[in-house]
Amino acid sequence: MLSLEQLSLMVKEHLGFYSYADGIQHYSKWNICESTLGGRGLICSEDIMPGEVLFVDHPLICGPRAGTIVQQGCTVCCKLESDTFFKCPKCALLLCSEKCQKTNTHVEDCMLISRWNKKVSIDDIDVNIMSRALTTIRALMLNKNQRQFMASLQAHTLPQHGSEIRNLKDYFDIPEEEEELMIIACCALDTNAFQISTSYGKKEMSIRGLYPVAGLMNHCCVPNTRYSYNTDRQMTVKAVKPIRAGTEIFTCYTGVLWGTPARRTHLFKTKHFSCKCDRCADPTERGTLLAALKCFSAECPGCLLPIEPLKSSSAWKCIQCNLRVPYNNICAIQAALGSLMGTLDFENVAELENFLLHRFTKYIPRTNQISVDLQCRLIWELGDADGYRWHDLSQSRLALKESLCRGTLRILAALGAGDAHLRGLLLYHLHAALAERARRCPDQYEELKTEIERTIDQAHQILQGDISAPPDLELRRRYLGPGCDKPQEERFFILDA
Ligand SMILES: [Zn+2]
Ligand SMILES: [Zn+2]
Ligand SMILES: [Zn+2]
Ligand SMILES: [Zn+2]
Repeated sequence: MLSLEQLSLMVKEHLGFYSYADGIQHYSKWNICESTLGGRGLICSEDIMPGEVLFVDHPLICGPRAGTIVQQGCTVCCKLESDTFFKCPKCALLLCSEKCQKTNTHVEDCMLISRWNKKVSIDDIDVNIMSRALTTIRALMLNKNQRQFMASLQAHTLPQHGSEIRNLKDYFDIPEEEEELMIIACCALDTNAFQISTSYGKKEMSIRGLYPVAGLMNHCCVPNTRYSYNTDRQMTVKAVKPIRAGTEIFTCYTGVLWGTPARRTHLFKTKHFSCKCDRCADPTERGTLLAALKCFSAECPGCLLPIEPLKSSSAWKCIQCNLRVPYNNICAIQAALGSLMGTLDFENVAELENFLLHRFTKYIPRTNQISVDLQCRLIWELGDADGYRWHDLSQSRLALKESLCRGTLRILAALGAGDAHLRGLLLYHLHAALAERARRCPDQYEELKTEIERTIDQAHQILQGDISAPPDLELRRRYLGPGCDKPQEERFFILDA
């Protein structure tokens, strides 16, 4: 294990603090210290302002995710659908074109794999197994310092980690020291990898990256940072609220709008720890009731919440009539809700809307995370999906979009999520709904103007430079944001486009 000093030196070298001659970023406003959660963490050494960049990380390795349900695509450009997919005859990786085959990325991958003696013919090699192992194979390209850096990251060494490599060994004779390095990479990835977001609305193979500095951030269910990616897969980590000197920098390893049982189960399964943060300890989750279920008593309008949320098998209790429900009954309800969700076609907007407004409300309170999840999905679709574009939307659907945006923004505010990425997206959608209203009734524009300007401006502040931001973010801010001197009709021309 490296000392904190050695690790700090590696981190600074990785971030390029020693290679910049232009004085952009010679130091950071945080240090690597012992965390109050145990282990290491990043602790601020100065007060940080909301929106301030904490660091810009780049991946030691990146490539396809290893999950079995991940859709496989071209191992170079990540395209998911193509009539021209083929298996490289030398390395068995899936490719979409000769162009991708000739890229440096593939030439390097191919060279690493084709050195190994094959135990079976190329035809018998499963492209999915190759794709799942590829990110760890790429670790073989790291230099000595990078390998040492990777090995120094916290990693789980439980037997379930490393199955990618065991599968690979059925096909190839892999030298022992290479296998060892790949196992280290597997464990480091399973513990520290971040899923890299793709361009807005683009369907691409899901990829992950080992961001070693971001990997040093510990988890909190209400994080004080957000991160985004640019087209070069650089990750920028920014503060979402003021952070005082001496405070630890946190990220969130789960969905921010998941209820406590879902978050804690996920953290335990994938990261092997039990979160005990303030939000987890509060059964109501700051009044958001994201985990709440309907009271089992037919006459009672109240809802059930865990009595001791930090105990995974806690009984639940109605906050109104005090009815106590054993843990097993809660599990049965949650499983049934899970299967109901499994039957839902998320692409079908009418079905989403029907479930959200009519079906689910029979079983769960509107505050429940499932409801909130459907709410968000519906927000993204209204105004965008086929048959639900702005011109197709009825007045009531437009009003629904606006109220869903406001409701979800209120949940984020109650949680204290600050300028989280999701807040940026919701503000963007709220602005779009308001602008559509004003376009339909131009005489309402004066009344809506201030809010339209404020929402698009804040959305822009949060989402700018983010590869997953809506592509018309800049244009909308220029025309509908503050300080635009164009006349009203012209400001709305972009909405007609
Ligand atoms: Zn390709
Ligand atoms: Zn190849
Ligand atoms: Zn927590
Ligand atoms: Zn009750």
